Amino acid sequence: MQTLIQSVLTLRRDASERDALADTLEADTLETVDVLLAGTQIQAVASAGTLLRAANQRVIDGRDKLLLAGFVNGHTHSSQVWQRGLIPQLPLELWLANVFESTPRQLDQIYWGAVSTAVDTLLSGGTCVMDHAYVIPGQEMETVAALVRGYRAVGLRAVVAPLIMDLPFASGFPKGCLLPQSASPRSASELLALMEAMVAEFHDPDHGIYIGAGPTGFHRCSDDLLAGCADLSQRYGLCYHTHLLETRAQHRLAQERYGISAVQHLANLGCLGPRTSLAHGVWIDEADIDRMAKAGATLVHNPVSNLRLGSGLAPILKCVQRGLNVAFGCDGSASNDAQNLLEVIKLGTILHTVTEADYDHWLTPAQTLRMATVGGARGVNLGHCTGRIAPGFDADVILYNLNHPSLLPSTNPLQLLVLGRPTEVVESAWVRGRQIVDQGRLLTVDVTALHHALLQPSSPPQRAQTQHHPVEPHYRNVMLNR
Ligand SMILES: [Zn+2]
Repeated sequence: MQTLIQSVLTLRRDASERDALADTLEADTLETVDVLLAGTQIQAVASAGTLLRAANQRVIDGRDKLLLAGFVNGHTHSSQVWQRGLIPQLPLELWLANVFESTPRQLDQIYWGAVSTAVDTLLSGGTCVMDHAYVIPGQEMETVAALVRGYRAVGLRAVVAPLIMDLPFASGFPKGCLLPQSASPRSASELLALMEAMVAEFHDPDHGIYIGAGPTGFHRCSDDLLAGCADLSQRYGLCYHTHLLETRAQHRLAQERYGISAVQHLANLGCLGPRTSLAHGVWIDEADIDRMAKAGATLVHNPVSNLRLGSGLAPILKCVQRGLNVAFGCDGSASNDAQNLLEVIKLGTILHTVTEADYDHWLTPAQTLRMATVGGARGVNLGHCTGRIAPGFDADVILYNLNHPSLLPSTNPLQLLVLGRPTEVVESAWVRGRQIVDQGRLLTVDVTALHHALLQPSSPPQRAQTQHHPVEPHYRNVMLNR
Protein backbone atom coordinates (compact mmCIF):
# COMPACT_ATOMS: atom_id res chain seq x y z
CA MET A 1 0.00 0.00 0.00
CA GLN A 2 1.34 3.40 -0.97
CA THR A 3 0.17 6.77 0.27
CA LEU A 4 0.89 9.93 -1.67
CA ILE A 5 0.52 13.15 0.29
CA GLN A 6 0.39 16.00 -2.19
CA SER A 7 1.26 19.66 -1.73
CA VAL A 8 1.88 19.52 2.00
CA LEU A 9 3.87 22.00 4.08
CA THR A 10 6.90 20.61 5.86
CA LEU A 11 10.17 21.73 7.37
CA ARG A 12 12.62 22.54 4.61
CA ARG A 13 14.61 19.48 3.72
CA ASP A 14 17.96 21.26 3.80
CA ALA A 15 17.03 22.92 7.10
CA SER A 16 16.03 19.65 8.72
CA GLU A 17 19.35 18.15 7.72
CA ARG A 18 21.23 20.76 9.68
CA ASP A 19 21.81 20.42 13.37
CA ALA A 20 19.87 22.20 16.07
CA LEU A 21 22.18 25.19 15.83
CA ALA A 22 20.96 25.96 12.33
CA ASP A 23 20.54 29.69 12.16
CA THR A 24 17.64 29.90 9.78
CA LEU A 25 14.91 32.46 9.77
CA GLU A 26 11.49 31.10 10.59
CA ALA A 27 10.12 32.33 7.27
CA ASP A 28 12.63 30.14 5.44
CA THR A 29 11.94 26.98 7.33
CA LEU A 30 8.89 25.70 5.47
CA GLU A 31 8.39 24.38 1.96
CA THR A 32 5.60 22.62 0.08
CA VAL A 33 6.31 19.10 -1.07
CA ASP A 34 4.84 15.80 -2.21
CA VAL A 35 5.66 12.82 0.01
CA LEU A 36 5.28 9.18 -0.93
CA LEU A 37 4.96 6.56 1.80
CA ALA A 38 5.51 2.95 0.68
CA GLY A 39 5.58 -0.08 2.93
CA THR A 40 7.22 0.89 6.20
CA GLN A 41 9.24 3.75 4.73
CA ILE A 42 9.24 7.18 3.15
CA GLN A 43 10.01 6.42 -0.46
CA ALA A 44 10.21 9.89 -1.96
CA VAL A 45 10.08 13.58 -1.06
CA ALA A 46 9.93 16.03 -3.94
CA SER A 47 8.80 19.55 -4.79
CA ALA A 48 5.03 19.94 -4.83
CA GLY A 49 3.33 18.75 -8.00
CA THR A 50 6.23 16.58 -9.16
CA LEU A 51 5.30 13.14 -7.81
CA LEU A 52 2.76 11.63 -10.17
CA ARG A 53 0.00 9.47 -8.75
CA ALA A 54 0.06 5.82 -9.66
CA ALA A 55 -2.49 3.02 -9.50
CA ASN A 56 -3.18 1.50 -6.09
CA GLN A 57 -2.11 4.65 -4.33
CA ARG A 58 -4.12 6.40 -1.71
CA VAL A 59 -3.86 10.12 -2.33
CA ILE A 60 -4.18 12.70 0.42
CA ASP A 61 -4.64 16.37 -0.39
CA GLY A 62 -2.02 18.03 1.79
CA ARG A 63 -3.16 21.61 1.27
CA ASP A 64 -3.75 23.44 4.57
CA LYS A 65 -1.85 20.70 6.35
CA LEU A 66 1.60 20.40 7.88
CA LEU A 67 3.62 17.18 7.81
CA LEU A 68 6.31 16.70 10.46
CA ALA A 69 8.41 13.75 11.53
CA GLY A 70 6.95 12.21 14.68
CA PHE A 71 8.35 13.50 17.96
CA VAL A 72 10.15 11.22 20.35
CA ASN A 73 9.07 11.37 23.98
CA GLY A 74 12.58 10.81 25.30
CA HIS A 75 11.69 10.11 28.91
CA THR A 76 8.56 8.95 30.69
CA HIS A 77 7.29 6.32 33.12
CA SER A 78 4.04 4.91 31.75
CA SER A 79 2.72 3.34 34.97
CA GLN A 80 2.44 6.83 36.48
CA VAL A 81 -0.67 7.39 34.37
CA TRP A 82 -2.45 5.98 37.43
CA GLN A 83 -0.90 8.67 39.63
CA ARG A 84 -1.97 11.57 37.46
CA GLY A 85 -3.22 14.35 39.72
CA LEU A 86 -2.33 12.40 42.86
CA ILE A 87 0.98 13.59 44.28
CA PRO A 88 1.24 17.04 45.88
CA GLN A 89 3.86 19.54 44.79
CA LEU A 90 7.02 18.46 46.56
CA PRO A 91 10.74 18.28 45.82
CA LEU A 92 11.68 15.11 43.94
CA GLU A 93 13.02 13.20 46.94
CA LEU A 94 9.82 13.68 48.99
CA TRP A 95 7.60 13.35 45.94
CA LEU A 96 9.29 10.02 45.17
CA ALA A 97 8.51 8.66 48.62
CA ASN A 98 4.84 9.32 47.86
CA VAL A 99 5.14 7.85 44.36
CA PHE A 100 6.55 4.57 45.66
CA GLU A 101 3.66 4.16 48.07
CA SER A 102 0.99 4.59 45.42
CA THR A 103 2.65 2.80 42.50
CA PRO A 104 0.23 0.49 40.62
CA ARG A 105 1.12 -3.14 41.10
CA GLN A 106 -1.31 -4.97 38.83
CA LEU A 107 -0.47 -6.10 35.33
CA ASP A 108 -3.67 -4.77 33.80
CA GLN A 109 -2.80 -1.33 35.16
CA ILE A 110 0.63 -1.65 33.58
CA TYR A 111 -0.96 -2.55 30.24
CA TRP A 112 -3.42 0.35 30.29
CA GLY A 113 -0.66 2.72 31.42
CA ALA A 114 1.24 1.88 28.24
CA VAL A 115 -1.87 2.23 26.08
CA SER A 116 -2.74 5.60 27.63
CA THR A 117 0.83 6.88 27.23
CA ALA A 118 0.91 5.72 23.61
CA VAL A 119 -2.41 7.40 22.78
CA ASP A 120 -1.42 10.69 24.42
CA THR A 121 1.93 10.56 22.62
CA LEU A 122 0.30 10.12 19.21
CA LEU A 123 -2.32 12.80 19.74
CA SER A 124 0.36 15.33 20.68
CA GLY A 125 2.57 14.59 17.67
CA GLY A 126 4.75 11.70 18.89
CA THR A 127 5.48 8.39 17.24
CA CYS A 128 8.04 6.96 19.65
CA VAL A 129 8.41 6.77 23.41
CA MET A 130 11.21 5.93 25.82
CA ASP A 131 9.39 4.23 28.66
CA HIS A 132 11.75 4.15 31.65
CA ALA A 133 9.41 1.63 33.08
CA TYR A 134 8.58 0.66 36.62
CA VAL A 135 8.56 -3.14 36.82
CA ILE A 136 6.66 -5.04 39.51
CA PRO A 137 9.14 -6.79 41.82
CA GLY A 138 8.96 -10.55 41.29
CA GLN A 139 6.94 -10.05 38.09
CA GLU A 140 9.52 -8.24 36.02
CA MET A 141 9.12 -10.33 32.87
CA GLU A 142 5.33 -10.21 33.10
CA THR A 143 5.45 -6.43 33.53
CA VAL A 144 7.53 -5.94 30.40
CA ALA A 145 5.25 -8.35 28.53
CA ALA A 146 2.24 -6.21 29.52
CA LEU A 147 4.00 -3.01 28.40
CA VAL A 148 5.00 -4.52 25.07
CA ARG A 149 1.44 -5.76 24.57
CA GLY A 150 0.16 -2.23 25.20
CA TYR A 151 2.54 -0.58 22.75
CA ARG A 152 1.92 -3.23 20.11
CA ALA A 153 -1.85 -2.83 20.52
CA VAL A 154 -1.58 0.89 19.74
CA GLY A 155 1.24 0.49 17.20
CA LEU A 156 3.61 3.03 18.72
CA ARG A 157 7.36 2.61 18.43
CA ALA A 158 8.61 2.07 21.96
CA VAL A 159 11.82 1.59 23.89
CA VAL A 160 11.10 -0.13 27.19
CA ALA A 161 13.94 0.41 29.64
CA PRO A 162 13.04 -1.25 32.94
CA LEU A 163 13.93 0.91 35.95
CA ILE A 164 16.44 -1.17 37.85
CA MET A 165 18.30 -0.36 41.05
CA ASP A 166 20.32 -2.32 43.59
CA LEU A 167 20.65 0.19 46.43
CA PRO A 168 17.93 0.91 48.99
CA PHE A 169 15.69 3.98 48.83
CA ALA A 170 17.57 5.82 51.59
CA SER A 171 20.80 5.71 49.60
CA GLY A 172 19.33 8.29 47.21
CA PHE A 173 19.50 11.03 49.87
CA PRO A 174 22.55 12.99 50.93
CA LYS A 175 23.56 11.57 54.32
CA GLY A 176 21.15 8.73 53.54
CA CYS A 177 23.03 6.48 55.96
CA LEU A 178 21.28 8.35 58.78
CA LEU A 179 17.89 7.11 57.57
CA PRO A 180 16.29 3.77 58.46
CA GLN A 181 17.40 1.30 55.77
CA SER A 182 14.86 -0.72 53.85
CA ALA A 183 15.73 -4.18 52.58
CA SER A 184 18.08 -4.11 49.63
CA PRO A 185 16.50 -4.80 46.27
CA ARG A 186 17.88 -7.50 43.97
CA SER A 187 21.63 -7.70 43.43
CA ALA A 188 23.34 -6.25 40.37
CA SER A 189 24.09 -9.69 38.96
CA GLU A 190 20.47 -10.83 39.37
CA LEU A 191 19.22 -7.68 37.67
CA LEU A 192 21.66 -8.01 34.79
CA ALA A 193 20.64 -11.65 34.26
CA LEU A 194 17.03 -10.50 34.20
CA MET A 195 17.87 -7.87 31.62
CA GLU A 196 19.54 -10.50 29.41
CA ALA A 197 16.34 -12.54 29.57
CA MET A 198 14.26 -9.48 28.65
CA VAL A 199 16.46 -8.73 25.66
CA ALA A 200 16.13 -12.34 24.48
CA GLU A 201 12.36 -12.29 24.91
CA PHE A 202 11.25 -8.80 23.90
CA HIS A 203 13.93 -6.83 21.98
CA ASP A 204 12.44 -6.74 18.48
CA PRO A 205 13.82 -3.87 16.37
CA ASP A 206 12.23 -5.27 13.21
CA HIS A 207 8.82 -4.52 14.70
CA GLY A 208 9.58 -1.25 16.48
CA ILE A 209 9.92 -2.63 20.02
CA TYR A 210 13.23 -2.23 21.82
CA ILE A 211 14.61 -3.03 25.24
CA GLY A 212 16.79 -0.33 26.81
CA ALA A 213 19.29 -0.63 29.65
CA GLY A 214 17.78 1.68 32.27
CA PRO A 215 19.54 1.86 35.62
CA THR A 216 17.42 4.26 37.71
CA GLY A 217 20.28 6.66 38.32
CA PHE A 218 23.67 6.72 39.97
CA HIS A 219 21.97 7.71 43.23
CA ARG A 220 20.40 4.29 43.67
CA CYS A 221 22.71 2.05 41.64
CA SER A 222 26.04 0.44 42.45
CA ASP A 223 28.98 0.87 40.10
CA ASP A 224 28.61 -2.81 39.17
CA LEU A 225 25.06 -2.23 37.98
CA LEU A 226 25.88 1.01 36.14
CA ALA A 227 28.84 -0.59 34.36
CA GLY A 228 26.98 -3.86 33.77
CA CYS A 229 24.26 -1.94 31.94
CA ALA A 230 26.92 -0.28 29.77
CA ASP A 231 28.20 -3.73 28.90
CA LEU A 232 24.67 -4.87 27.98
CA SER A 233 24.20 -1.75 25.87
CA GLN A 234 27.45 -2.46 24.07
CA ARG A 235 26.78 -6.15 23.44
CA TYR A 236 23.20 -5.79 22.20
CA GLY A 237 23.28 -2.25 20.79
CA LEU A 238 20.74 -1.06 23.37
CA CYS A 239 19.99 2.49 24.35
CA TYR A 240 21.48 3.27 27.79
CA HIS A 241 19.03 5.48 29.64
CA THR A 242 19.29 6.84 33.16
CA HIS A 243 18.30 9.76 35.37
CA LEU A 244 21.12 12.24 35.89
CA LEU A 245 21.55 15.09 38.38
CA GLU A 246 17.89 16.00 38.43
CA THR A 247 18.09 17.76 41.80
CA ARG A 248 20.43 19.69 44.04
CA ALA A 249 20.26 16.77 46.47
CA GLN A 250 21.63 14.42 43.81
CA HIS A 251 24.39 16.88 43.01
CA ARG A 252 25.34 16.94 46.67
CA LEU A 253 25.10 13.16 46.89
CA ALA A 254 27.53 12.74 43.99
CA GLN A 255 30.09 14.93 45.75
CA GLU A 256 29.54 13.01 48.99
CA ARG A 257 29.86 9.57 47.37
CA TYR A 258 32.42 10.05 44.60
CA GLY A 259 34.13 13.38 45.30
CA ILE A 260 33.87 14.11 41.57
CA SER A 261 31.10 15.03 39.16
CA ALA A 262 28.52 12.30 38.57
CA VAL A 263 29.07 12.71 34.83
CA GLN A 264 32.81 12.15 35.24
CA HIS A 265 32.04 9.10 37.36
CA LEU A 266 29.73 7.67 34.68
CA ALA A 267 32.40 8.37 32.06
CA ASN A 268 35.01 6.55 34.20
CA LEU A 269 32.70 3.52 34.36
CA GLY A 270 32.30 3.48 30.56
CA CYS A 271 28.65 4.56 30.68
CA LEU A 272 28.89 7.59 28.38
CA GLY A 273 28.66 6.98 24.66
CA PRO A 274 26.53 7.70 21.60
CA ARG A 275 23.84 5.26 22.80
CA THR A 276 23.57 7.04 26.17
CA SER A 277 20.64 9.32 26.97
CA LEU A 278 20.50 11.10 30.28
CA ALA A 279 17.26 12.47 31.65
CA HIS A 280 17.19 15.94 33.27
CA GLY A 281 20.79 17.10 33.84
CA VAL A 282 19.47 20.13 35.70
CA TRP A 283 22.63 20.32 37.82
CA ILE A 284 25.30 19.58 35.21
CA ASP A 285 28.08 22.14 34.73
CA GLU A 286 29.97 23.22 31.63
CA ALA A 287 32.64 20.55 32.01
CA ASP A 288 29.87 17.92 32.25
CA ILE A 289 28.25 19.29 29.09
CA ASP A 290 31.56 19.04 27.24
CA ARG A 291 32.11 15.46 28.46
CA MET A 292 28.62 14.45 27.35
CA ALA A 293 28.93 16.21 23.98
CA LYS A 294 32.33 14.64 23.32
CA ALA A 295 30.91 11.19 24.06
CA GLY A 296 28.03 11.81 21.62
CA ALA A 297 25.46 11.35 24.40
CA THR A 298 22.02 12.98 24.60
CA LEU A 299 20.44 15.11 27.29
CA VAL A 300 16.67 14.67 27.62
CA HIS A 301 15.06 17.91 28.73
CA ASN A 302 11.89 17.58 30.84
CA PRO A 303 10.93 21.19 31.54
CA VAL A 304 7.41 20.60 32.88
CA SER A 305 8.54 17.96 35.36
CA ASN A 306 11.53 20.04 36.44
CA LEU A 307 9.26 22.96 37.29
CA ARG A 308 6.57 20.77 38.89
CA LEU A 309 9.17 19.32 41.30
CA GLY A 310 11.16 22.51 41.79
CA SER A 311 14.28 20.80 40.42
CA GLY A 312 15.52 23.87 38.54
CA LEU A 313 16.29 24.88 34.97
CA ALA A 314 18.54 22.61 32.91
CA PRO A 315 21.24 24.63 31.08
CA ILE A 316 19.79 23.87 27.67
CA LEU A 317 21.14 26.92 25.85
CA LYS A 318 24.68 26.03 26.96
CA CYS A 319 24.09 22.44 25.83
CA VAL A 320 23.00 23.61 22.40
CA GLN A 321 25.87 26.08 22.11
CA ARG A 322 28.40 23.37 23.07
CA GLY A 323 27.06 20.85 20.59
CA LEU A 324 25.36 18.45 23.00
CA ASN A 325 22.37 16.66 21.47
CA VAL A 326 19.15 17.61 23.28
CA ALA A 327 15.82 15.77 23.19
CA PHE A 328 12.52 16.35 24.99
CA GLY A 329 10.67 14.23 27.51
CA CYS A 330 7.32 14.53 29.25
CA ASP A 331 8.53 12.52 32.27
CA GLY A 332 5.92 10.40 34.06
CA SER A 333 2.41 11.56 34.83
CA ALA A 334 3.14 11.80 38.55
CA SER A 335 5.45 14.77 37.84
CA ASN A 336 3.79 16.03 34.66
CA ASP A 337 0.11 15.37 35.02
CA ALA A 338 -0.31 15.41 31.24
CA GLN A 339 1.63 13.59 28.51
CA ASN A 340 1.46 16.31 25.89
CA LEU A 341 4.61 16.67 23.83
CA LEU A 342 3.52 19.95 22.26
CA GLU A 343 3.16 21.45 25.74
CA VAL A 344 6.66 20.29 26.67
CA ILE A 345 8.14 21.66 23.45
CA LYS A 346 6.40 25.00 23.97
CA LEU A 347 7.77 25.37 27.47
CA GLY A 348 11.21 24.20 26.33
CA THR A 349 11.17 26.88 23.63
CA ILE A 350 10.27 29.85 25.82
CA LEU A 351 11.61 28.86 29.25
CA HIS A 352 15.25 29.66 28.69
CA THR A 353 14.75 33.28 27.78
CA VAL A 354 14.84 33.95 31.53
CA THR A 355 18.44 32.75 31.76
CA GLU A 356 19.81 34.53 28.69
CA ALA A 357 19.53 38.24 27.96
CA ASP A 358 21.01 37.89 24.49
CA TYR A 359 17.94 37.15 22.40
CA ASP A 360 20.13 35.96 19.52
CA HIS A 361 20.63 32.80 21.59
CA TRP A 362 16.96 32.13 22.27
CA LEU A 363 15.58 28.90 20.84
CA THR A 364 13.27 29.08 17.85
CA PRO A 365 10.31 26.77 17.19
CA ALA A 366 12.21 25.25 14.26
CA GLN A 367 15.13 24.45 16.55
CA THR A 368 13.02 22.86 19.24
CA LEU A 369 11.04 20.85 16.69
CA ARG A 370 14.36 19.46 15.46
CA MET A 371 15.29 18.60 19.03
CA ALA A 372 12.01 16.73 19.42
CA THR A 373 12.47 14.82 16.14
CA VAL A 374 16.09 14.46 14.99
CA GLY A 375 17.46 14.96 18.52
CA GLY A 376 14.90 12.64 20.05
CA ALA A 377 15.58 9.88 17.53
CA ARG A 378 19.30 10.07 18.23
CA GLY A 379 18.57 9.96 21.95
CA VAL A 380 16.87 6.58 21.67
CA ASN A 381 19.58 5.23 19.39
CA LEU A 382 17.27 5.35 16.37
CA GLY A 383 18.68 8.33 14.48
CA HIS A 384 19.31 6.10 11.46
CA CYS A 385 15.64 5.22 10.92
CA THR A 386 13.29 7.82 12.42
CA GLY A 387 13.02 11.56 13.16
CA ARG A 388 13.30 12.85 9.58
CA ILE A 389 11.14 13.16 6.52
CA ALA A 390 13.60 11.82 3.99
CA PRO A 391 13.71 8.88 1.58
CA GLY A 392 14.86 5.70 3.29
CA PHE A 393 13.68 6.76 6.72
CA ASP A 394 10.82 4.92 8.34
CA ALA A 395 7.42 6.53 7.77
CA ASP A 396 6.95 7.88 11.30
CA VAL A 397 5.04 11.04 10.39
CA ILE A 398 2.27 13.26 11.68
CA LEU A 399 -0.15 15.29 9.57
CA TYR A 400 -1.51 18.40 11.30
CA ASN A 401 -4.73 20.13 10.33
CA LEU A 402 -3.85 23.81 9.88
CA ASN A 403 -7.49 24.76 9.51
CA HIS A 404 -8.28 23.86 13.09
CA PRO A 405 -9.43 26.98 14.99
CA SER A 406 -6.53 26.65 17.45
CA LEU A 407 -4.11 27.09 14.52
CA LEU A 408 -5.84 30.10 13.00
CA PRO A 409 -5.32 32.65 11.63
CA SER A 410 -2.89 31.33 9.03
CA THR A 411 0.18 33.27 10.09
CA ASN A 412 3.24 31.10 10.70
CA PRO A 413 1.97 27.53 11.20
CA LEU A 414 5.21 26.31 12.75
CA GLN A 415 5.29 29.12 15.28
CA LEU A 416 1.62 28.72 16.13
CA LEU A 417 1.95 24.96 16.53
CA VAL A 418 4.79 25.42 19.03
CA LEU A 419 3.92 28.66 20.79
CA GLY A 420 0.15 28.41 20.69
CA ARG A 421 -2.05 25.91 22.51
CA PRO A 422 -3.05 23.57 19.73
CA THR A 423 -5.82 21.14 20.54
CA GLU A 424 -6.98 18.18 18.45
CA VAL A 425 -4.76 19.19 15.56
CA VAL A 426 -3.24 15.78 14.81
CA GLU A 427 -5.28 14.64 11.84
CA SER A 428 -3.31 11.56 10.84
CA ALA A 429 -0.35 9.62 12.17
CA TRP A 430 1.74 6.84 10.69
CA VAL A 431 4.26 4.68 12.51
CA ARG A 432 6.56 2.52 10.41
CA GLY A 433 4.22 3.18 7.49
CA ARG A 434 1.10 1.97 9.27
CA GLN A 435 -1.62 4.56 9.69
CA ILE A 436 -2.68 4.66 13.32
CA VAL A 437 -4.64 7.90 13.49
CA ASP A 438 -7.14 9.06 10.88
CA GLN A 439 -9.33 12.17 11.20
CA GLY A 440 -8.04 12.49 14.77
CA ARG A 441 -9.28 9.01 15.75
CA LEU A 442 -7.24 5.99 16.77
CA LEU A 443 -7.54 3.15 14.28
CA THR A 444 -5.89 0.48 16.40
CA VAL A 445 -7.31 0.60 19.91
CA ASP A 446 -10.70 1.40 21.32
CA VAL A 447 -10.11 4.57 23.33
CA THR A 448 -13.50 4.12 24.99
CA ALA A 449 -12.17 0.89 26.51
CA LEU A 450 -9.12 2.83 27.72
CA HIS A 451 -11.29 5.48 29.33
CA HIS A 452 -13.45 2.77 30.88
CA ALA A 453 -10.33 1.12 32.35
CA LEU A 454 -9.18 4.46 33.77
CA LEU A 455 -12.62 5.03 35.28
CA GLN A 456 -12.60 1.77 37.17
CA PRO A 457 -10.30 1.64 40.15
CA SER A 458 -8.80 -1.83 39.69
CA SER A 459 -6.93 -1.55 42.97
CA PRO A 460 -7.99 -0.34 46.41
CA PRO A 461 -8.47 3.43 46.37
CA GLN A 462 -5.10 5.11 46.68
CA ARG A 463 -4.79 6.70 50.04
CA ALA A 464 -4.54 10.42 50.30
CA GLN A 465 -1.01 11.62 49.72
CA THR A 466 0.68 13.60 52.38
CA GLN A 467 3.22 16.36 52.66
CA HIS A 468 4.56 14.65 55.78
CA HIS A 469 6.36 11.51 54.79
CA PRO A 470 8.66 10.04 57.47
CA VAL A 471 11.77 11.07 55.49
CA GLU A 472 10.72 14.71 55.43
CA PRO A 473 12.53 15.82 58.61
CA HIS A 474 15.76 14.33 57.27
CA TYR A 475 15.35 16.07 53.89
CA ARG A 476 14.51 19.38 55.54
CA ASN A 477 17.45 19.09 57.87
CA VAL A 478 19.98 18.15 55.20
CA MET A 479 18.78 20.32 52.31
CA LEU A 480 17.28 23.41 53.95
CA ASN A 481 18.86 23.94 57.39
CA ARG A 482 22.39 24.63 56.36
ZN1 LIG B 1 11.93 10.21 35.34
